[in-house]
Amino acid sequence: MSTIFSKIVEGELAADIVYRDDRVTAFRDINPAAPTHILIVPNREIPTVNDLADEDEALAGHMLLVARDLAKSEGIAESGYRLIINCNRDGNQEVFHLHLHLLGGRPLGGMVKRT
Ligand code: 5GP
Repeated sequence: MSTIFSKIVEGELAADIVYRDDRVTAFRDINPAAPTHILIVPNREIPTVNDLADEDEALAGHMLLVARDLAKSEGIAESGYRLIINCNRDGNQEVFHLHLHLLGGRPLGGMVKRT
């Protein structure tokens, strides 16, 4: 079973794609939590951070550099932004295809609610 994000990567499901290359695809979140809310996903299906192999080090670094470049092109590099990767239950991960959230365009408040 391929994930929703694999369907987007493969062009089977529509999305507002803002960047793609041979390793990653970036598209706007369907339910944005901030004026800029982009998801950067590996083209290859990797369920969670736990499933990254040591050989994926360059891919993981590439995701971060794509986020850096998108923050600049979105005009939020100087005002600031947040990068988030949720993992499994306590991380509230909903889609089990690794993705890096790029959020910005408004003050985002404290990092995690202290309950
Ligand atoms: P997670 O909680 O797994 O870290 O985040 C999943 C994100 O994917 C959510 O912010 C959700 O709004 C987004 N999302 C879920 N389904 C779709 C979809 O079909 N298209 C797009 N563009 N985003 C989606």
